[in-house]
Amino acid sequence: MTITTNLPIHFTLNTGAKIPVVGLGTWKSEPGEVRQAVAYAIRDGYRHIDAALIYQNEEEVGQGIRDSGVPREELFITSKLWNTHHANAAEGLQKTLDALGTDYLDLYASLVHWPVRLVANETSELLPVNPDGSRSVDRSWDQAETWRQMEDLLRTGKVKAIGVANWSIPYLEELKKTWKVTPAVNQVELHPFLPQHALRRYCDELGILLQAYSPLGSTGAPLMADSEIAAIATKNGVAPATILISYHVNKGAVALPKSVNPKRISSNKKVIRLSSEDITALDSLAAKGWAKRINTPLWGHDLGFDDWYGPGAK
Ligand code: NDP
Repeated sequence: MTITTNLPIHFTLNTGAKIPVVGLGTWKSEPGEVRQAVAYAIRDGYRHIDAALIYQNEEEVGQGIRDSGVPREELFITSKLWNTHHANAAEGLQKTLDALGTDYLDLYASLVHWPVRLVANETSELLPVNPDGSRSVDRSWDQAETWRQMEDLLRTGKVKAIGVANWSIPYLEELKKTWKVTPAVNQVELHPFLPQHALRRYCDELGILLQAYSPLGSTGAPLMADSEIAAIATKNGVAPATILISYHVNKGAVALPKSVNPKRISSNKKVIRLSSEDITALDSLAAKGWAKRINTPLWGHDLGFDDWYGPGAK
């Protein structure tokens, strides 16, 4: 990991475990390219890989991990319980472990990948729909039950930490009533256009580490083209991607940039110290009216994010 100043290389989870501040994302990393990308990244210094069952490439991710030659215990591997496995977390976990070819995960996030239980049917094991085309969502499902199963998984030793993803404050407030284990992380979309200040304060108070997904704005890295971000990059003599990734590490959140391109994989692990002036400028981009959530899957479910249905990120 290239850290150009005295920024941390790891954050500490509420379990006491260390988590590398930058991890390689693997969503939309195609099976034909992700194996090489993961192996390259690990040989290049990455120690943190972010995977998920729904990405349908965990087998190749696992091959890349083994190709790297770096021992498993030196790596931090995350995966996520998919929505069709909310009622049987152990089965979802086992599918992921088998695909990745590992005995354990450092972090099983996500109650899951999303706080929405999907009921698999003949249309799909992963993204089932009803006869009318709407998502096959089980609205009566109690997410507390999935979390209880996640807590059970901790006791098996097959996961070292458990967390959530895409959880808004109202959902966390509800889960808090019954959780015995506080989630170690909340993996959410996070970048200057969706800074989620209120959620950050809430998670900070509970000791839940934020992980920033889509830090570059997802496919095509559209945030790199923003003129203010580009200006901050020019001022600091780095690429816009470095600013977008460093933004999180400076604010105490993990960044998960995805790339299958060796040059970009290498450059994305560079993190610089940002001035408070730059952080304030980045923090306030969304408030200027440019707030934008990029990932809004139509679950047909109110997920409780204030910004879910339009601009106005807090
Ligand atoms: P990112 O914001 O990481 O952007 C990825 C895109 O940026 C790709 O098109 C990539 O192309 C391009 N890119 C990467 N680095 C550079 C660079 N230095 N210069 C120019 N372009 C670049 O998007 P993601 O949405 O993939 O988010 C990152 C990760 O977060 C995911 O891969 C996944 O692991 C996780 N995630 C989790 C979600 C959840 O629900 N929990 C939802 C979404 C993401 P190329 O590969 O060709 O370099």
